[in-house]
Amino acid sequence: MAQKQVIVVGGGIIGASIAFHLVEAGAQVTLIEAGELGGIVSPCSFGWTNASHKNTRPYFNLRFQSMHLWDDLAARLPDIPYRKTEVLYLDGKTFDLDTFYANHTGWDYPLQWLDETQIRKLEPGLTVVPERGILSTAEGAVEASPAAVFFAKQAEAKGAWVVTNTEVTRLVMQGDTVKGVIAGDETLAADEVVIASGNGTKDLAAMAGIDVPMYSKPGLLISTTPVSHRVQRLILAEEVHFRQRADGTLSAGEDFGGGEINGNPEAGSQMLLERIRNQLVDPTGIELAGYTVGHRPIPGDDHPIVGRPVNRSGLYIAVMHSGATLAPVVCNAAARELLNDERDPLLATFGMERFSEAQVAASAAE
Ligand SMILES: Cc1cc2nc3c(=O)[nH]c(=O)nc-3n(C[C@H](O)[C@H](O)[C@H](O)COP(=O)(O)OP(=O)(O)OC[C@H]3O[C@@H](n4cnc5c(N)ncnc54)[C@H](O)[C@@H]3O)c2cc1C
Repeated sequence: MAQKQVIVVGGGIIGASIAFHLVEAGAQVTLIEAGELGGIVSPCSFGWTNASHKNTRPYFNLRFQSMHLWDDLAARLPDIPYRKTEVLYLDGKTFDLDTFYANHTGWDYPLQWLDETQIRKLEPGLTVVPERGILSTAEGAVEASPAAVFFAKQAEAKGAWVVTNTEVTRLVMQGDTVKGVIAGDETLAADEVVIASGNGTKDLAAMAGIDVPMYSKPGLLISTTPVSHRVQRLILAEEVHFRQRADGTLSAGEDFGGGEINGNPEAGSQMLLERIRNQLVDPTGIELAGYTVGHRPIPGDDHPIVGRPVNRSGLYIAVMHSGATLAPVVCNAAARELLNDERDPLLATFGMERFSEAQVAASAAE
């Protein structure tokens, strides 16, 4: 049988990972990126892989499975910029640790209560330590933009055509079927087009008459100068979460903040820097190296959109927040669906059909 031709639009963590998984599954892939490889939101990501927040059971299952797949990828491809990292949940003020522990251990998530002495023993570099916290041993951290470049290069080495600095300006339609794209001044034909374009997804899907309900939410992240090792784990403390990368730099953000931090990034960066310094016994040498304000691409109901739109063929959409966590599971499942029409049960509730009028009316009537 002839190889399926698939065009993937977007060279961030989601598009590049889909291209990689498609090539591994036997497709002929063209990856098209408007700028350089690595994405727009992906370089602004904290890169924490977790299954802890805002969880329904299907969303938890998807995230947890992805964490296993990150471990598998790292075992197979040791240069991938992902590292399994224990996480300390120390913020009992904004986060209900008791409920979190009860819900998640019920789902076999490996969590352990620690008292202050145990926390200090694990992380002697921390100065502010609460009376108790939770240790998670299932999670990890990925450098999302370098990982996107890594996936794209792997795909290219296995035969994908990777095109950068070229914007897709139109989808080529024949009736209800997408037949290809116009990119730069070329028309490229394909059996399937995958829109994995982060915040560009809505405009591209609209070209096929598809409305993707989406919004975006800004998030500030700072990076520090490299210093000797101060913490081993990813730390979720009150008002700041931070981790130290392999190169010694610290990355920090504030999940639950809003206006002040994001609205004034210069002042917000200084605030985050002070918060990390206050957390550490030895803050020597920790200076601000830079910051990013990224706009998270978030589907209307906060959950990933992965699948074919209703009433269109030749088109597939993959857009989500938590793309750093979800890339392996979603992209692996998307590749299988695109090539074999096999829909992974893990994706059951994450299709576009949940937004169709009939579906919304049926849910309202329940
Ligand atoms: C502050 C912050 C912290 C975060 N922390 C985490 C975290 O800890 N864990 C986690 O899992 N997630 C986190 N996220 C979310 C995660 O970073 C995103 O879900 C993920 O990066 C989205 O990847 P993407 O590939 O969809 O988008 P992008 O990285 O934006 O890539 C999309 C690409 O598509 C290209 N494109 C768009 N339109 C076109 C077109 N017409 N033609 C060609 N190319 C096009 C763009 O140029 C871009 O390169 C965080 C996000 C932010 C902002």
